Amino acid sequence: MQFTRPRGTRDFLPEEMAKRRYVEDVIRKVFESFGYGEIQTPTFEKLELITTKSGEDIRNHLYHFEDKSGRKLALRPELSAPTMRLYVNELRIRPKPRKIYYFENCFRYERPQAGRYREFWQAGVELIGSDKPESDAEIIYLAAQTLQELGIKEYEINIGHIGVFRKFLEKSGIKEEGQNTLMGIIDKADKEALQDALNQTGISKENKETLLKLINLTGTKKVLKEAEELLKDFGTEELKKFAETLDLLETFGLKDYTINFGIARGLDYYTSTVFEIAIPTLGAQKQVCGGGRYELIQAFGGGQTPSCGFAFGFDRIMLALEIQGQKLPTKEKTKVLVIPAPKELLKDAIKIANKIRQHTSCEIDLMGRKLDKAMNYANNENIPYVVIVGEEELKDGKVVIKNMKTGEQQKTKIGEIKNAVG
Ligand code: AMP
Repeated sequence: MQFTRPRGTRDFLPEEMAKRRYVEDVIRKVFESFGYGEIQTPTFEKLELITTKSGEDIRNHLYHFEDKSGRKLALRPELSAPTMRLYVNELRIRPKPRKIYYFENCFRYERPQAGRYREFWQAGVELIGSDKPESDAEIIYLAAQTLQELGIKEYEINIGHIGVFRKFLEKSGIKEEGQNTLMGIIDKADKEALQDALNQTGISKENKETLLKLINLTGTKKVLKEAEELLKDFGTEELKKFAETLDLLETFGLKDYTINFGIARGLDYYTSTVFEIAIPTLGAQKQVCGGGRYELIQAFGGGQTPSCGFAFGFDRIMLALEIQGQKLPTKEKTKVLVIPAPKELLKDAIKIANKIRQHTSCEIDLMGRKLDKAMNYANNENIPYVVIVGEEELKDGKVVIKNMKTGEQQKTKIGEIKNAVG
């Protein structure tokens, strides 16, 4: 019986893995250059940890199960909640801010399509313990800088502020739960559903209109003035904080972004600055990054701890680089194939291969093939050098080295193979 992969999952061959590891490395280096340190958390967590503050969208797409002792568990759909749990368990007493990053697989039971999988990888950071606008600015800049270092040519950064909405909705008499529902709908940009939901809240006609105008505000910094005008009767302190963040972001060096008050993010724990990055060439699944400021630690019993962070969808970054035609390093090929000829010299060949491996990558013929067949294998696999272990040469402590590209052959002392294969 032949088995296939579960739907929505992928296999990665060595060539693809080499590219993924290369890109992963670039991302890690950028995160680390800003002082973030890597953590690893379990692949599955208690179901309740995941459902406590995540948005509806995530709750509907969970892989969850009971273990043999009846514990309710879930495969992680994202890493903010596990990271916050880890912080409360392990890092609470350490100096602030804590700067953490992760690079892990996540699981969501979604309808698979290009750029949307049931197992995918997220690379993200969390900056825990600072409520300062420079922290918001730093993470947005860090996300942009990562794409820059990866050589992504075209991307769009949209920045919004949920705090502005929450304040407005609160002053319009809508409680947190109602706010979360509205945020979820705004995130999906479903105008009809939004009208229905707003009608159910009993919000006044004028306030409803103000909200709809606010959601559609998008553009350069001048839209802050328009927002200020719209919100002048509701308090503008959240807007002032937003302006400060944007000002610092420009000092960091990021000027190319769009303010978009329609960004709401689908998760319940965001509190103020929110942002998304899209790569237009990816089509329907173009969003590669989402993040912002949130409060999760309190819900996990850790006391109020303002935090911000973001997550990149790593698989979509890989797709974007491919579409862009970016050349990425492929797997370092095996440098040397050692062939015993005749095969009775296998043991000598094994010892010689072990010596070569101290300096470079080396395979030994494991199929017991004749010399010409083993040479064909080296050719097909693009292995640049073949070391032939033959009786005559071995008597003098030598082997024959063949350069597969030029066809040149030379006898070399075993101790000097290293120099001959460069
Ligand atoms: P989210 O936690 O939903 O904001 O996701 C963060 C990022 O992960 C998104 O911007 C996507 O790039 C990526 N992502 C989310 N879901 C999937 C999925 N099913 N397949 C691939 N990437 C995903």
